[in-house]
Amino acid sequence: MKSLFDVKGKKIVITGGAGVLGSTLAMSLSKLGALIAIMDLNESKAHEIAETMKGKAKGFKGDVLDKHSVENAFQEVVDYFGAPDILINGAGGNHPKATTSNTLSFFDLPVDKLRFVNELNLLGTIIPSQVVGRMFAERSEGIILNISSMNAFRPLTRIPAYSAAKAAVSNFTQWLAVHMAQIYSPKIRVNAIAPGFFLTEQNRFLLTDEQTGKLTERGKKILDHTPMNRFGAPEDLVGAVQWLISDASQFVTGIVVPVDGGFSAYSGV
Ligand code: NAD
Repeated sequence: MKSLFDVKGKKIVITGGAGVLGSTLAMSLSKLGALIAIMDLNESKAHEIAETMKGKAKGFKGDVLDKHSVENAFQEVVDYFGAPDILINGAGGNHPKATTSNTLSFFDLPVDKLRFVNELNLLGTIIPSQVVGRMFAERSEGIILNISSMNAFRPLTRIPAYSAAKAAVSNFTQWLAVHMAQIYSPKIRVNAIAPGFFLTEQNRFLLTDEQTGKLTERGKKILDHTPMNRFGAPEDLVGAVQWLISDASQFVTGIVVPVDGGFSAYSGV
């Protein structure tokens, strides 16, 4: 009997697929038999990662902030493996200059950097969803998985644009889920995961000291508020993702699943 969680033969596009979380998902899902298109601004890294998956993946250059670039990239994907079944919107992130510090106050955060973070996370999710969503609407089925963040549930100190943008990604996930199900097909599902704290290049030097590698005050506070008392590893996301992109979640749409070691459940007392 076919497993409810089967993703074998599924054609999956991952934006930001050359990044830490995106590439881990790409590799894990390809091991489960999926075919992966890694779409990233960093074309050489996308190719490099695809090559490790031995014929089960290909890299594509695509800028999620430029609709023409995304349309061209998706045309190349369709030429490569046909219409995709699943879109994972993995491109996103913060910018150091959109982060308050002892030397940069909220009042002085440069507007262009705030705009960059807002656009990368929100428009960078909406634009690929428009392009692929149209294909899904024509076929009356498909799955979109967004990557929100813990910040969306409770904003974290120092990163106002990133927190607000991820809250918008969660909101957009609900909006698009309703829109696709009502207007096009109940077989088009849209969900998100909200990773908690994963030690990656994006936040390494917010959570650990650059010189000593020891936890910063912020890193310590996070672990104190994480009942499982550790940072996540990118592999921790795979199970939740597999559930949300497989038939196992066929009656699930419009939700944002925390994968956070219990952070969002803990009041601190
Ligand atoms: P990362 O920086 O390692 O990867 C992001 C990838 O997106 C990079 O390969 C980059 O080249 C690509 N990218 C950037 N701009 C792009 C653009 N305009 N078009 C196409 N690709 C572009 O980040 P990550 O840690 O793997 O995070 C992946 C997602 O998960 C992001 O949305 C991030 O906000 C979210 N997230 C990460 C964490 C964490 O702890 N790392 C926690 C919560 C949520």
